[in-house]
Amino acid sequence: MRFLFVFRSVEWIGVEYISASLKRAGHETDMAFEADLGGTFYFGSRSRTHGSIIEKVREFGPDMVLFSSTTQLFPWVKEVSRDIKEHFDIPILVGGIHATIQPEEVLSDDHIDMVCVGEGEEAIVELADRMQEEQDYSDTRNIWLKSENGLIKNPVRPLIRDLDELPFPDKDLFYKYGCFRKRAYVMATRGCPYNCPYCFNHQLKRIYKDTRSLYVRRRSVGSVIEELNGYRKRYGINSVHFYDDTFTLDEGWVMEFAERYGKEIGLPFYCLVRPDHVNERMIEALRKAGCVSMGMGIESGNDHVRNQVLKRNMSNEQILEAARIIKAQGIKLVTFNMFGFPGEDTDQMLDTMRINLDLRPDSLFTFIFYPFPGTDALRMAVEQGCIDDKSMEMIMNGEGGFQRESVLDHPYKGIAYNMKVILPLLNKMPRSTHDYFLKKWVFREHSGSLLSIISLVSLPFYSSWESWERAREQISMFKVRFTS
Ligand code: SF4
Repeated sequence: MRFLFVFRSVEWIGVEYISASLKRAGHETDMAFEADLGGTFYFGSRSRTHGSIIEKVREFGPDMVLFSSTTQLFPWVKEVSRDIKEHFDIPILVGGIHATIQPEEVLSDDHIDMVCVGEGEEAIVELADRMQEEQDYSDTRNIWLKSENGLIKNPVRPLIRDLDELPFPDKDLFYKYGCFRKRAYVMATRGCPYNCPYCFNHQLKRIYKDTRSLYVRRRSVGSVIEELNGYRKRYGINSVHFYDDTFTLDEGWVMEFAERYGKEIGLPFYCLVRPDHVNERMIEALRKAGCVSMGMGIESGNDHVRNQVLKRNMSNEQILEAARIIKAQGIKLVTFNMFGFPGEDTDQMLDTMRINLDLRPDSLFTFIFYPFPGTDALRMAVEQGCIDDKSMEMIMNGEGGFQRESVLDHPYKGIAYNMKVILPLLNKMPRSTHDYFLKKWVFREHSGSLLSIISLVSLPFYSSWESWERAREQISMFKVRFTS
């Protein structure tokens, strides 16, 4: 069977794993790809020209078209599905986090035939095998599909317990589109034990609760090393970005990884940590292994917001101590922050500004709170009266995002946006200037163009190592897009 992935934005490991699993089972895959800054990255840009996708479908002749969709990508998925169905009579399946959380909503689109709920590697391969054998596939676990009698909603199968059994991701799919150059994106774990209400992990745990699955799973160190050695030979990689939700959950694994990675790979790498999973032993070992940059979610600098609203369960002291440990090792620290939570007042937002200006990360990312469909954060926003019908419709349609003014009915959304825009720049300015901005500037109304100019000027202050590599990848993707 021939499967064509249709995807937009940047390299996506989920797609690479499904493709590798299909290929291992003897099927053929290819991808139609639209390079873009929007969609997955929440900038909300839309492309209306899908000519090259239609051309690719014609050329490859797939038995099925597969999409992977985030919430923000879904409007594009609907547009392209409609265009494909205008030209071809081919089944279309949508997977990914949006289809997993909103399967009925996705299937309410006339042009989408099936949805894959949850982890897709085993489900899509079983579906493909059954289709190839011309068997009935209507009871394939994880797959929801339309039938004459309405929707068939199959239960999910247990999560894959041993991640080492999976084939290595099919990076060729994205490499030929210039999506990565010399940096490899890799995942050593799946799942996170925490339940932050704005993140998808608590939703996935609910979907899988009856399957008695182990939710947080970790590959063996040997498997990760083997994968990276393969990329070194095949693509000549010179750095690694670990995509794991929290890299330092298991100290024993981290120490074994650091020892082997340092000896056998030794390339500079980036990973994400939670402040309450940072200690000197692990961070020193990771630095010696090659870690040059670490991301750490602060989200809010206010104890009440962070712990009561966001359920992060960590103190300001833990955050400051984790930052101190990381910086003391000479690792570049990148923080992640959000403004505009339901019920958040301006003093609480200022606490987020202040904690960052205190610990002085090397760079930082700021976002506006965005409640994704089905999350506890959305429920909380509704309960607090911050969501009217129009905002709910926008959220369900994947409109709005982390980078723009809040979709909430929030009394301080303008101030939240000012803070989001100015913090990366302020972090690089002398301390003597901070008071003026914190007391005066953020409370004024500013023109949209001024805020856009500040955002542009701040770009170099976003993650130094990470963002420059990302920028080079974007340029290489667009070069391929406009020259091929
Ligand atoms: S710690 Fe991070 S990955 Fe885990 S649930 Fe919270 S936001 Fe999600």
